[in-house]
Amino acid sequence: MLKFDVLTLFPEMINQACSHSIIARGIESGVISINTVNPRDFTKDKHKKVDDTPFGGGAGMVLMCQPYFDAFDSIKKNENTETIILSPQGKLFNQSIAKDLSKKAQIILICGHYEGFDERIKDYTRAREISIGDYVLTGGELPALCIIDAVSRNLNGFLGKIESANNDSFSDGLLEHPQYTKPREYMNLCVPDVLLNGNHKDIAKWRRKKQFEITQKKRPDLLEKFIKNCKNKEDLKLLNEVINKQEY
Ligand code: SAM
Repeated sequence: MLKFDVLTLFPEMINQACSHSIIARGIESGVISINTVNPRDFTKDKHKKVDDTPFGGGAGMVLMCQPYFDAFDSIKKNENTETIILSPQGKLFNQSIAKDLSKKAQIILICGHYEGFDERIKDYTRAREISIGDYVLTGGELPALCIIDAVSRNLNGFLGKIESANNDSFSDGLLEHPQYTKPREYMNLCVPDVLLNGNHKDIAKWRRKKQFEITQKKRPDLLEKFIKNCKNKEDLKLLNEVINKQEY
């Protein structure tokens, strides 16, 4: 079981979002657990204050050390705990980080709000800073939920079939091949014949080739990286065909 502890001033945002669909099922079946800790419950200020004006002046309110230090200390940790502070200044989150984090026993996610954290919160918790993209959100709750979701998908027993995560985009550095479902034809739009003939070898080859084509078209940076590390002869042959075809 992977335990997520989320430090947030808005626990209902986390609890509400985690009470649906596959995440809720993951909690029910004991693959993950989600616990929220509200720093406001730890403040020693009689007005339950968790933020104050920045030293040196400037706009906005900064989250204070005391409630965050105490909230963090209240969480029982183990030797396989990772602490993450959500910040637009952090390392960009991706599938490979999600996969690595899925090997942890416990992940503590510290969500900011307002102008962000007193810098000493990061120092004290020895947290790793993670960003979910080069844009600024009002709080760390949505990024925390993104991380919970992306990490949990890599856990055995979380998805119906683990293969559905293994074949997803980014799992081997490429984007996924196109998918189709019934009916075979809809409004004159047809499913490619190769997917209907039952020849699994042909299907696998077609899908792999499509992965290369799609990655080349949508994320040439990823394909370039893939090619640099590719040693598989079949892949190299297909890649050659795709690159020389220059269809796009
Ligand atoms: N003043 C901060 C700065 O410029 O770096 C931004 C603070 S932001 C308005 C409030 C909080 O939202 C942050 O402390 C962080 O927890 C969260 N946040 C905002 N954008 C984020 C992003 N792209 N990735 C992760 N967390 C983010």
